[in-house]
Amino acid sequence: MTIVLGIESTAHTFGVGIVRNGEILSNIKKTYVTEKGGIIPMEAAKHHNRFKAEIYSEALEKAEILENKIDAIAFSQGPGLAPCLLEGMKFAKKLSKKLKKYIIPVNHCIAHLEIGRLTKTKNPVMLYASGANTQIISYESGKYRIFGETLDIGVGNFIDNFARYSGIGFPGGPIIEKLALKGKKYIKLPYKVKGMDIALSGILTNLKQKIESKKYNLNDLAYSMQETVFAMLVETAERALAHTGKKELLLGGGVACNSRLQEMCKIMCKERKAKFFCPEKSLLVDNAGMIAFLGEIMFKSGIKENNLDKIDIMPRQRTDDVEVVWRK
Ligand code: AMP
Ligand code: MG
Repeated sequence: MTIVLGIESTAHTFGVGIVRNGEILSNIKKTYVTEKGGIIPMEAAKHHNRFKAEIYSEALEKAEILENKIDAIAFSQGPGLAPCLLEGMKFAKKLSKKLKKYIIPVNHCIAHLEIGRLTKTKNPVMLYASGANTQIISYESGKYRIFGETLDIGVGNFIDNFARYSGIGFPGGPIIEKLALKGKKYIKLPYKVKGMDIALSGILTNLKQKIESKKYNLNDLAYSMQETVFAMLVETAERALAHTGKKELLLGGGVACNSRLQEMCKIMCKERKAKFFCPEKSLLVDNAGMIAFLGEIMFKSGIKENNLDKIDIMPRQRTDDVEVVWRK
């Protein structure tokens, strides 16, 4: 029996999750939100520092586990905001020292993908649509390869930025989704797909100009933004399915909570006879359950470290930097 505790702190969320033999026993988190404006990294880091002890105790309590039963501590090593990542790593090292347990550095993006195993997908193309990251990923010869990605900003940050410009606080995505439901008129926006990559900053500028002109209804803009940008995501995901010949699409990341994006993915999968998989909402947004889940898989494959000096954060770590030795 293995018990792994995971820590998430790449951006807005601080979380602690506990997994025993692939089962998530607890997944507690607290997210930094704002009334107006986006994430300030130092403020988010202070938020994490303030709540970490409380979240840790709650996670142990919910899992009904005593801390001395933990076999290893996994934490999000990157990619992410450096001040936030540091809070998570410091906490992981402190626990590792105190409990005399191994530490396991986990790539956050791959954790978003691996948690898809709970949906029973085997070898998917993943559309990973989150705040800072937007990638089309699939396993090939020892690594999770990035088949396509955003060339500038992540789709969640793009939506949050559009929301902020309209006077909506962070996270803007869920509110924009509600406004989009009330939109009636499709307003033409630029459509930027290059092979399996997408670009979003030009569309953001275009939307900002439209907001400034005061000639457009915000509901219509929200609706048109979703229709346009989600079509771009689905197009690139479909191209990756065609290119790899794979028959499973896995949706993940916070933006995957959006019902319209899920619906568009389902339609595309149905048309090309692929299967659609999407984890439940609590596992789509940033959470520590997925870090513990992948941490346990890595631990069982022999990845572990007890020399804490060898461990550091990797704010710019890429999905395809990681050797996926546990997947053989
Ligand atoms: P993550 O970085 O994976 O935790 O995802 C956070 C991002 O997901 C933020 O940019 C949110 O605005 C976005 N998000 C959350 N829920 C929704 C939704 N229903 N529609 C669109 N974006 C969403
Ligand atoms: Mg994430």
